[in-house]
Amino acid sequence: MNTKVIVIGSGFSSLSASCYLAKEGFDVTIFEKNDTVGGRARQLKRDGFTFDMGPSWYWMPDIFDRFFADFGKQTSDYYQLDKLDPAYKIFFEDDTITIGDCMDKICEEFERIEDGSSKHLRKFINTAQENYNIAINKIVLRPGLSPIELITPETITRVDQFFKTISSQVRKKFKNPKLISTLEFPVLFLGAKPNKTPSFYNFMNFADFGLGTWHPKGGMYEIIKAMKHLAEELGVKIKTNSPVDKIITKNGIANGVSCNGEIYQANVVLSGADYHHSETLLNKEERQYSENYWDKKTFAPSSLLFYIGLNKKLKNIEHHNLFFDTDFELHAKEIYDNPKWPKDPLFYANFPSITDKSMAPENCETAFFLIPIAPDLVDSKEIREHYFNLIMHRFQKQTKENITDSIIFKETFCVKEFKEEYNSYKGNAYGLANTLTQTAFLRPSLKSKKVENLFFTGQLTVPGPGVPPALISGKIVSQLIAKNAKQ
Ligand SMILES: Cc1cc2nc3c(=O)[nH]c(=O)nc-3n(C[C@H](O)[C@H](O)[C@H](O)COP(=O)(O)OP(=O)(O)OC[C@H]3O[C@@H](n4cnc5c(N)ncnc54)[C@H](O)[C@@H]3O)c2cc1C
Repeated sequence: MNTKVIVIGSGFSSLSASCYLAKEGFDVTIFEKNDTVGGRARQLKRDGFTFDMGPSWYWMPDIFDRFFADFGKQTSDYYQLDKLDPAYKIFFEDDTITIGDCMDKICEEFERIEDGSSKHLRKFINTAQENYNIAINKIVLRPGLSPIELITPETITRVDQFFKTISSQVRKKFKNPKLISTLEFPVLFLGAKPNKTPSFYNFMNFADFGLGTWHPKGGMYEIIKAMKHLAEELGVKIKTNSPVDKIITKNGIANGVSCNGEIYQANVVLSGADYHHSETLLNKEERQYSENYWDKKTFAPSSLLFYIGLNKKLKNIEHHNLFFDTDFELHAKEIYDNPKWPKDPLFYANFPSITDKSMAPENCETAFFLIPIAPDLVDSKEIREHYFNLIMHRFQKQTKENITDSIIFKETFCVKEFKEEYNSYKGNAYGLANTLTQTAFLRPSLKSKKVENLFFTGQLTVPGPGVPPALISGKIVSQLIAKNAKQ
C-alpha cells in the first residue's frame, strides 16, 4: 500500500510539495480550509475585473522553470510569460525613476540621477549575480538542519557579507537617496529592514535588475492553476472547504487529521499552513515552539490592501508602481521598531491591465494598492478609509490622474482577514523575515522534533518569504519526507 500523506493548505509551498511527493509515489491528499486553492495567492474576480489578491511580482523565472522541468514540463505548457518593460516605476516627491528591462537602460537611468553611478551599479550587480548563483545553486536547496549547510568554499570567502548589511553596502558607493532607496527595495521582499538584512542577500538585486520582472498572462493565479493541474495529473487529491482542526498523533507519531467532524488517517502529515497555527493543532506538549518564541521573532509586515475597479484607462503609470514619496526611515520604524499605524506610509500600486488586457473590461483598469504595516495592528473601517483617502491624494498628486471619480467598486483586506482567512500569525502577510538570526538552520524546522512523521513547509520555514522560496520549500520538505520514509 502507498504511504499516505495529508497536506494541510494549498499555498505555493503545499502545492509544490504535493507534486514532488506524488511523483515519488506517495498517496497525497490536500486539505484546504478555503473554497479555492492558492492560499495568499488567491484570485478575486468581480464584474469582469481580475485581481491577484497577494503576489504580483514574478521574479526569479529560473526557479519556476526548474520547478516545472522537474516534472518534464515547461511554464509555457501552462501559461504565457511576458517580460515587462519598464519593469516598474518609482515615484519620489520631485522625480520618478523608471527601471527598464535590461542593464543598459537601468544604467542610463542611474547616470541621469548620479554621475558615475552606472560603473558602480554594474560592479554591484556582478557581485549580486555571483551571490545569486551561490544561493540558488549551493545553499537554498539545503533543509536548514545544521549550520554546516552554509559552509561552502564560496561562502567561506564571503563570510563578511553575512555580517554587513545591504544598507551599509549600498551607501558605500551610491550617494543619491533615490538610488539608495531603489537598490534597497528588492530586499523588502525578504521581510526585514535593509539595515537588518545581510549584504549577501543582494542577490535579490540581481533578481531585480539582472533577471527582470515578468507577468504571466491572466495574472499570478495562472501559476496556481498550473500547479493544481500538474498536481492532479500526478494523482494528488484536493479537498477544499476542509479546515483541519486537529493533527492526530499516537505514541508521538502523526497519523492523521480531524476535519469537518471526521478523522482521516495518514502515515505522514505535512502542514503548509502558517507554522504557529499548525502547532496549535497539536497537544501543548507536542509543540516545539512556545508563544514566547513566536512573539520574539521578526515577522514580515502585514498589509492593508485595496482592490479597485476603475471605469477608465490611465496614463502616467506602469504595471508596477512604487510610491516612495515619503520618509522610508519613519515608515520602517513604524513597522518594526515601534509598531503602530504609519503616519505617511510608502505604498505600492499595481495595474496589471496596463499590459494585460485580459485583466479588466474594455476601457477599464484593474487597480491593487498595498500599504505595508506592522503585524497585529487593530484596524477598523474608519482607519482603512483614512489610509485610502491618504494614498488616493498622493497618487493623484504624483501621477496627475484623477481616479476617485472613476471607482466602480473597492474591496479591502487587512490584518483581520489575514488571520481569519489564512490563520496567519498576527496577520502577517509574508511570513517570517530573513534576518541574520532567522536564516537557514535558525528558522523553524521542516521536521518536527517532537512528533514523528510530522513536517512543515512554507514561508515561515526555509528558505523564507516569497513565491520562489515557497516552491523551493515544498521541494526540500518532500525530499526530507522521502528520505524519512526509506529509513
Ligand atoms: C499581499 C501580498 C503580496 C505579496 N507579493 C509577493 C510578490 O509580489 N512576489 C512574491 O514572490 N511573493 C509575494 N508575496 C509572498 C507570497 O505570496 C507568499 O510567500 C507565498 O504565497 C506563501 O505561500 P505558502 O504556501 O507558504 O503559504 P499560504 O499561501 O499562506 O498557504 C497556506 C494555506 O494554508 C491554508 N490553511 C491555513 N490553516 C488551515 C487549516 N487549519 N486547514 C486547512 N488549510 C489551512 C490557508 O488557507 C492557505 O491556503 C506576497 C504576499 C502577500 C500576502
